[in-house]
Amino acid sequence: MSARVCILGPSGRMGRALIDASAGRADVRVVSALDRPDASGLGAQVGPVVATADPATALDACEVYVDFTSPSATHAIAKLATQRKRAAVIGTTGLGAAEEAALAELAKVAPIVVAANFSLGVNLVLGLARQAAAVLGPEWDAEVVETHHRAKRDAPSGTALMIARAIAAGHGSDYDAVKRHSRDGDIGPRPQGEIGVSTVRGGDVIGEHTASFFGPAERIEISHRASSRSIFAAGALRAAAWVVGKPPGRYDMLAVLGFAP
Ligand code: NAD
Repeated sequence: MSARVCILGPSGRMGRALIDASAGRADVRVVSALDRPDASGLGAQVGPVVATADPATALDACEVYVDFTSPSATHAIAKLATQRKRAAVIGTTGLGAAEEAALAELAKVAPIVVAANFSLGVNLVLGLARQAAAVLGPEWDAEVVETHHRAKRDAPSGTALMIARAIAAGHGSDYDAVKRHSRDGDIGPRPQGEIGVSTVRGGDVIGEHTASFFGPAERIEISHRASSRSIFAAGALRAAAWVVGKPPGRYDMLAVLGFAP
């Protein structure tokens, strides 16, 4: 049985990748597509369906919706999905407290997968970064650098934050107490245990992340480079097929991939 899926934002970069990736998959079937009322291509055929701006029609048709849009859209659709107890796969990044609260409400009544990165490689990097930090300790200065295309709105990327939090977990430190997201001016010596995250924006880069660990006279770098959005789309559709029928709750990509917590 294939999961009946609604794709949000089919005119967007990830929306298009999701429609493309769904073709030929046996585990999912796209049954609806929901976009903004002013989106280009509304009413046109997207893959096997016609895009609509009516959330009720789109959500009622599906078992699970896949959301790579914007924080405000994620918030609004989560409220409608909560009324319908609809399963969800959420890839939107840059979520704030209000959006997280709306997802927490949805997770009380439906199973949802939330991940700032749906690629297998990045989820492996999370485990490697945590292990490196645990072995090396805070004496090795840890820095994360992320690069994305010029249209990306949120910074640092959700993936960079996940990697930085994995490093903090490896150190056994409180991330919010040791994070450093920008440096400018007379910043003084680097405090031991600080975890830096730096952002680069330009061109059409899909996503690059490097975690560096600087020791005395040596350096370790763990890097991931995405060369196609298809890796995120394939992971998100795999999550959509996996999440249908699960008990209500919030799951991450590690659970979908079957990695031990
Ligand atoms: P984009 O701007 O190209 O596409 C966003 C789409 O959302 C557009 O089609 C827009 O019309 C649509 N949209 C906006 N409001 C809507 C609403 N109320 N209802 C339905 N559709 C609505 O952006 P993108 O590059 O595709 O990225 C989208 C999000 O996905 C960003 O937050 C990005 O950071 C995130 N992202 C996550 C991953 C991951 O693996 N988790 C990977 C890539 C991108």
